[in-house]
Amino acid sequence: MSNQQRTRHVTAPGFGVGRATGFELASPDQRIAGNIEPALARNRAFAAAGGHRDAVVFPNLRLFVITCLDPRVDPAHVLGLELSDAMVVRNVGGRVTPEVINDVAFIAQLAENVLPDGPLFEVAVIHHTQCGTGALADDTFRRRYAQRIGADESTLREHAVLDPAATVTRDVERLRSAPAISPRVTVSGHVYDVATGLVRTVLPAGRRGDRSLAHSQPPQGARTP
Ligand SMILES: [Zn+2]
Repeated sequence: MSNQQRTRHVTAPGFGVGRATGFELASPDQRIAGNIEPALARNRAFAAAGGHRDAVVFPNLRLFVITCLDPRVDPAHVLGLELSDAMVVRNVGGRVTPEVINDVAFIAQLAENVLPDGPLFEVAVIHHTQCGTGALADDTFRRRYAQRIGADESTLREHAVLDPAATVTRDVERLRSAPAISPRVTVSGHVYDVATGLVRTVLPAGRRGDRSLAHSQPPQGARTP
């Protein structure tokens, strides 16, 4: 990644990714480059101000956010989350992978121990426009990455978030149909627009087995960007 960060544009000419997602890495601002050290200084200020006090382990909003690791999509900022408000899993694209399903199942099992009845929490899956996973739509990039990590190339193609409304619908369905996840967990799907700063709900919260909400949406791939 560090090599990429020194590159003004990661996308190759005619790549298609730029058109599909607008993804490119702008030249970083060297004035603030400093890796962990500036963040550690902020941490000391945080601790000195008592920012860690009153934090609780079960999230105040009963919310579990799954979203992309893109720094433009930090839910602490775009959703105004304070400390202890939500659990957050971030990965490339904010995709619901088997590992993410296991994480949700784990937290649900913990929550069942303290909440014997009623809803446990809501999982909000948030995909975003201009997602860097669009690079996986490029054949050359995808093949190189597949070789690098020893993955199946066709699976990687499906990982690209080119139409966030479509991919978030697919991932909400993955969670709602996962037997490992308690039916007391609700799941919703959203799209964050990096151009407007607004989050739009694609699928309101629904439970496992509640497929009617998801099926009320257009079929995958039917939406135009
Ligand atoms: Zn992204």
